[in-house]
Amino acid sequence: MRGQKTVVLATAVVTSLCLGTGIAAAGDGWGSGKPGSDGAGDSYYPQDGNGGYDVADYNLKVTYDPASHQLTGLQDISARATQALSSFNLDLRGLTVDSVKIDGRDAKFSRTGDHELVITPARTLRRGERFEAKIAYHGVPAPIDDPALGNNGWQYAQAGGAFAAGEPKSATTWYPVNDTPLDKATFHLAITVPDEWGVIANGREKPSIKTPKGTTHVWAEETPIVPYMTTVAIDKWTFDRQKRKDGTPIVSAFAPGVPDSTKQAEARLPEILDFLESKFGKYPIDAAGGIFLNEQIGFSLETMSRPIYSAGWAGTVPTIVHENAHQWYGDSVAVEHWKDVCLNECFASYATWLWDEAQEGVDLNKQYADDVKKASTAFWNGKLYDMGAGNEFTYVYSKGPMMLHALRNYVGEQAFSRVLSTWPALHRNGNASMQEFQRYTEKVAHKNLQGFFDAWVYGAGKPADQYLFPGGLKPAA
Ligand SMILES: [Zn+2]
Repeated sequence: MRGQKTVVLATAVVTSLCLGTGIAAAGDGWGSGKPGSDGAGDSYYPQDGNGGYDVADYNLKVTYDPASHQLTGLQDISARATQALSSFNLDLRGLTVDSVKIDGRDAKFSRTGDHELVITPARTLRRGERFEAKIAYHGVPAPIDDPALGNNGWQYAQAGGAFAAGEPKSATTWYPVNDTPLDKATFHLAITVPDEWGVIANGREKPSIKTPKGTTHVWAEETPIVPYMTTVAIDKWTFDRQKRKDGTPIVSAFAPGVPDSTKQAEARLPEILDFLESKFGKYPIDAAGGIFLNEQIGFSLETMSRPIYSAGWAGTVPTIVHENAHQWYGDSVAVEHWKDVCLNECFASYATWLWDEAQEGVDLNKQYADDVKKASTAFWNGKLYDMGAGNEFTYVYSKGPMMLHALRNYVGEQAFSRVLSTWPALHRNGNASMQEFQRYTEKVAHKNLQGFFDAWVYGAGKPADQYLFPGGLKPAA
């Protein structure tokens, strides 16, 4: 994510911005299930996600009418019970659930809290059992108003289209889901809209189908995806299709009114992905591209394989570099907990430093020294770990890339570049924590980094000179 509401603390730094407790009886666990937990237990968003099962695939069929805003959905979830389950929850905000079937049999359901859909199958699901949940629902989706981050989730474009984007929550506004970064799944979407509208979503584009109600657009994301990284966007798109050298399809979509300069910036995506691959290792996703809204939404977001960009300020190469760097740092390797979000944002922000260094010949040591000189006391007030719910995105864009540049100098060029290029593969399609990153960097660098991480990441305040000006770094003249 790269937002307009980011606190800009040093002018040169940022330009814009499942767990269950059920105990199976001895033997096969029949008849002894317990409810899955109603939250995945994140320290900031404990009710998001659920426990007791693991989703493998979402197969979602949606019909959407831009004129009336009516959405009708049929969600088909393939999952496996991780405990004996008498009932389990999905997350869904608003919308009306019409029916729920588990393995073809009607299941009871109820709604609690602001986003819990509680499902009671006709019989207890055994631990380890694979099952299919089909949820039919309909309604007019509404965004989540987040006081810190603005609108999240399903949103309406002024020109009549709609799109889904938001962090940390988005997916619950338009389909039932296990809304936690800890449960990644493949994502198949077939969405029917009136013929005059176009659709772009995550993953690979499949042939569309003419139906009496309009055109069904089919998209398949086969790389396991975190729910908030899913998206769909409906508008009268102009498409640009390219391929990477290895054949990976690139599909970019531009809303009417998006300027040519933005299209020219996105046309450099193959070059940008090649560059990022040279720094971070093999591109970890099976498709690429971008979604360029003609709508000011306050942020751009690294939706998987196809980042979604706000109008105007976002259509520039640095933002494209930032959101695509997230495909390694944020999408393929997702946070273990939201307090680890520097693993997403510090790295995506530093990717633009690396780009500037390689493409523009920027002297990063000089830039760093100038930024340290300009930094106010407030600049150093924030931590880069466990910064508090609603405060996750305050310091990661500004202090974050400086921390990584200091780390590069503290451990040396060779160890730093090895960490950057091997860490994503180590946790591909998984989750990781800041402590794991620290331990891995220590292993590669053969150096204890506790003092450095305490000074820069876990603690606030200006780091002592040994951590602020290590290696080739020195104060600005
Ligand atoms: Zn970001």
